[in-house]
Amino acid sequence: MNIEKLIRTNIKNLKPYSSARNEYTGEAMMFLDANENPFNEPYNRYPDPLQREVKEKIAVIKGCEPSQIFLGNGSDEPIDLLFRAFCEPKQDNIVTIDPTYGMYQVAADINDTEVRKVKLDESYHFSAEELLKAADNNTKLIFICSPNNPTGNLLDKNEVIKLIEVFSGIVIIDEAYIDFAPDASMLPELNKYENLVILQTFSKAWGMAGIRLGMAFANSEIIKILNKIKYPYNINMLTQQKALELLLQEQEKKEWVEILLTERKKLENTLKDLAFVQKVYPSDANFVLVKMHDARGIYDYLVENGIIVRDRSKVVLCNDSLRITVGKPEENEILIEKLKELI
Ligand code: PMP
Repeated sequence: MNIEKLIRTNIKNLKPYSSARNEYTGEAMMFLDANENPFNEPYNRYPDPLQREVKEKIAVIKGCEPSQIFLGNGSDEPIDLLFRAFCEPKQDNIVTIDPTYGMYQVAADINDTEVRKVKLDESYHFSAEELLKAADNNTKLIFICSPNNPTGNLLDKNEVIKLIEVFSGIVIIDEAYIDFAPDASMLPELNKYENLVILQTFSKAWGMAGIRLGMAFANSEIIKILNKIKYPYNINMLTQQKALELLLQEQEKKEWVEILLTERKKLENTLKDLAFVQKVYPSDANFVLVKMHDARGIYDYLVENGIIVRDRSKVVLCNDSLRITVGKPEENEILIEKLKELI
């Protein structure tokens, strides 16, 4: 991969904003460099712009180098930054699967970049060959979401690897739901492929959606580019502190995942026996996609009963389908009870 050729010229030539805290080395006695208020410690100080302490901890958990990690305000931030770094508006394009996570399209629209969507097959799988066929010389990024949202299934690793090996641009694998999947993450492949970006998030299995912290893993050249164009202090102090604290809860995270997987199995089994349910799609995530008669009517009925699920019935290949997040055992029971009342 020739990163110099892939990156937009204005980004290649960009002189990034240099924050006060980036400019000194050595021990500080006092900080009179950033026009902060000296009172109201510790909130008066700007946070570490490169979140070094958090990255050190994540690197240990994930088995990679801190230099291979970018942290964003949710993984939605690196999605947007990848467009800004690599896609020349009105000229370049990206390729992705259909249906998939909606933010790739939104980020593309914001950055005035064409999206070439390749429909999944009936069992929600893709062929690397078809995606590569949709690409041309202006295709800079290919987005693959695995396990995919909203379909829930893990995508074929061999096809993903074929894409990475053949495509001359960057392949982004969005692994937001990987902790719920039986197959391992692509992270161990990171050192092998310099055009691979893996997105993960603390919003799902780790239960931290509220603190907004997402990760991009890639070779350090790509990470440097993302760091160059991000807002200087994109991860606030409270989020960094809370993340350091919550990262100690890895055991709890594992237990939550175990509970949610058991609950998912129970939900799948009970849902498929309901008369109006046509199909429960196999899931490798913390949600299930369920095809049913009158999905919209059932969605409205659940809302009336205070239960909010996601209506995906207008999404391509998901007609008549609702996406249901696996909740706590008692929440899932109430959901099932309410649905049984319909029969
Ligand atoms: N990727 C996928 C596939 C998602 O479903 C989501 C959230 N719905 C995200 C990324 C974004 O997650 P966050 O910004 O909370 O990290």
